[in-house]
Amino acid sequence: MAVVETRKLTKRFSDEVVAVNEIDLRCVDGEFLVLLGPSGCGKTTLLRMIGGLEQPTSGEILIADRVVNNLPPRARQIAMVFQSYALYPHMSVYENIAFPLKAAKLDKAAQREKIAWAASILGIDELLKRKPRQLSGGQRQRVALARALVREPNVFLLDEPLSNLDAQRRASARDELQVFQKDIGTTTIYVTHDQVEAMGMGDRIAVIDSGHIRQLGTPHEIYEEPADTFVATFVGSPPMNLVPEGDELVGFRPEAFYPITADTPSDTSSVLRVNVINAREEYLGSEKLIYAEVNGIRVVSRLPANVDAGIAEGSSATFGVLRSNLRHFNAETGLRVQPGRVPVLSGAANA
Ligand code: ATP
Repeated sequence: MAVVETRKLTKRFSDEVVAVNEIDLRCVDGEFLVLLGPSGCGKTTLLRMIGGLEQPTSGEILIADRVVNNLPPRARQIAMVFQSYALYPHMSVYENIAFPLKAAKLDKAAQREKIAWAASILGIDELLKRKPRQLSGGQRQRVALARALVREPNVFLLDEPLSNLDAQRRASARDELQVFQKDIGTTTIYVTHDQVEAMGMGDRIAVIDSGHIRQLGTPHEIYEEPADTFVATFVGSPPMNLVPEGDELVGFRPEAFYPITADTPSDTSSVLRVNVINAREEYLGSEKLIYAEVNGIRVVSRLPANVDAGIAEGSSATFGVLRSNLRHFNAETGLRVQPGRVPVLSGAANA
């Protein structure tokens, strides 16, 4: 196991394309760290540099306190699993898992023992004689992990390993992978563009945009205390509502935004009241979303499906949000700020 660190790590592909821009990152021993960001933000390039598949333009990579910039991939004691799994199609599952052990010239008996150990951890004992084409996507992923595991790496680098699975398999594979990682305790860096995956799996998440880390924190910190409007809107579905007011953007999560009816106690000191127009309800089975407009900006409220908000299509309504649930951002830079003044939004409701 090992700490992985990058210092001012940069990858410049051309004058215009700086895929990774002076990234400082420290993944602690045994941690499951997720690199999250939109397509093209630089997360795969960052992972490939850590793995030794891409040469940095500048900066340092340290694994277990040793600078590894000049070490080839196999000398870094890391194991990588990619989206494609890269299994050898003509080899059986057993031979696929044995491949790195053969390369390391381990004797046959020791190979057998290690393969049995990894196969039992990943629950693929029954599949060892099959060829990759005879496996489901989830089983292939487990074989790829087993092949990585037998090398007993210090670090796992995983690049969207679940993206080939359908939504249902994905949820259980996510759970399995997380249990597996906690069991073996190997430091893991996991790349995804899927914020649900990141939130559910990461001990911490690095949110990346245009080659920069926008925020590094626990899922709770990222969700509740976003550092800027990029993080606030990239994480969470639907994203945080942002309503401009003066030189600020006032933000609140859809689930913190609820309809005020005649019997809701009106405590204007702790609740900001907001008048909305053009409300429209969307029923989603487990929940409902109410879309509406404040000062020309679309906002959304998320409610349990069984709540009758009594909102007619296209109507006006009054919503509330606890002041403690408001977040404030600089309208120009998007950075989180302390509130400059008490927000009023659609002021008429704040008598
Ligand atoms: P995705 O989720 O789509 O895989 P990503 O966040 O992993 O995206 P990268 O693959 O790291 O993004 O790419 C970051 C930027 O670097 C992109 O603008 C990409 O076009 C560019 N890039 C990546 N590899 C190369 C390369 N070999 N040559 C030139 N530009 C590259």
